[in-house]
Amino acid sequence: MGHDVPWLWFCGNCAAPSPHAGPPPPHARVCPSCGLGLLLEAREDAIPSDRDAFLVVDSSLLIQAMSREAQRFLGLTEQDAVDKPIAELLVPADAEAQGRTGFAAAITQARPDRHLRPAAGGADRARGLSAASSARGLRDP
Ligand SMILES: [Zn+2]
Repeated sequence: MGHDVPWLWFCGNCAAPSPHAGPPPPHARVCPSCGLGLLLEAREDAIPSDRDAFLVVDSSLLIQAMSREAQRFLGLTEQDAVDKPIAELLVPADAEAQGRTGFAAAITQARPDRHLRPAAGGADRARGLSAASSARGLRDP
């Protein structure tokens, strides 16, 4: 599953696609649409839309970027969230059923349909809140 899925570039803040067909040049990683996010690469089936609340985490599950909608949803700015463990902000929607291992499983299998919710306050489900845990752009120099 998944070897044939293309990888695309998108903005970690506003989700706008890269204006170029291929990877952006190294000096142009900042999103030209919003001027705030970095362009990241992810599987096409994990690319969020501009209305999704999404987080970008690194391989240590530390938050590296938040979309505009995620900042609104969680009531946090990206600056407040960067380098925090994602578990401080979110828990799986079905955490009670799955126990503590559920969170790691939910993240490491990062799928666009994986729903998470805020760890504190608010009972609302975060529809479309997904984690692009394998955004390769994060490791570029
Ligand atoms: Zn942007």
